[in-house]
Amino acid sequence: MHRQVRQYVQQKIQPGIELREIAEMVEKGTSTLVGFDPKNPMRAGWAFPTGISLNEVAAHDTVNPGDPPRWLQKADIVKLDFGVHVEGHILDSAFTFTFDPMHDELMKAVLDATNEGVRHAGPDAVVSEIGGCIREVMEAAEVHRPDGKIYRVKAIKNLTGHSIGPYKIHAGKSLPSVNTGSWSRMLPGELWAIETFGTVQGVGYVGHGGNCSHFMRPSSSSPSKLQRSALSTKALSLLEIIDRRFGTLAFCPRWLVQEAVRIKSPLMKGSDQQWWLSPLNELANLGIVAKYPPLVDVPGSWTAQYEHTILLGQSSKEVLTRGADY
Ligand code: MN
Ligand code: MN
Repeated sequence: MHRQVRQYVQQKIQPGIELREIAEMVEKGTSTLVGFDPKNPMRAGWAFPTGISLNEVAAHDTVNPGDPPRWLQKADIVKLDFGVHVEGHILDSAFTFTFDPMHDELMKAVLDATNEGVRHAGPDAVVSEIGGCIREVMEAAEVHRPDGKIYRVKAIKNLTGHSIGPYKIHAGKSLPSVNTGSWSRMLPGELWAIETFGTVQGVGYVGHGGNCSHFMRPSSSSPSKLQRSALSTKALSLLEIIDRRFGTLAFCPRWLVQEAVRIKSPLMKGSDQQWWLSPLNELANLGIVAKYPPLVDVPGSWTAQYEHTILLGQSSKEVLTRGADY
């Protein structure tokens, strides 16, 4: 399913396309293929917002309602990260694309590093040893720029692979692209997202930057009486929408708007395209919803990402998102 959608998208995208169009293309494709039913939203659907992160932005970016249009440029390097779930079983997979061959060596280095991670992953594997192997492969790569300069690829050290739980994209364990010396192991039965990020001209660490578009309930527990009393009516009805439609799955404001339109929520009264912003901030300020802002290396740097989801058996592994493309 992931393979089908990304194949379609890879054929359709050209420089000049609006980023919003890319997001809608991915989301329409995945919801159709997975058989999303708005009346039973938790049975199957999107697992997290369609990540469309450009250039120095490595992850956690997508289009928000009311954003000015942004068109894809030839030199852009795009991390397209999307996933679906069926009954809470999440697939998380990402690839990088560009129309400028200047980025090919970086992309290959990151793809090789992710494959190295996949190769070493398995039941009982020590997570930080895999991280060491990933870094070695990634940072052995050199990138030749059109101006004659040569750069080494750096692994982004504070972006990690992660274990996946039912309806929970981050189940608690992580796989950094570096050997941290930790003794944590992968265990039989676990589902893991193996993902690596690399950068050229960046520092190899990301910080927060730009407008937040990724949000998630940290737990499904309802807010306390005290929290409730601090929330506006609008925030409480937005929370109802979030709980019913997304539970503990990550979401973005575009999807809140879609759901509000579908149920004709009174929240949408008026013409303000950003009606969701202040109630969502209220929920975030009380910790009822967590924010995941864009993760960014330094301005002017380039970043790439590849990601697969693997399922560990007793003595085997299955790469659930492997395709002919990556
Ligand atoms: Mn991902
Ligand atoms: Mn992931």
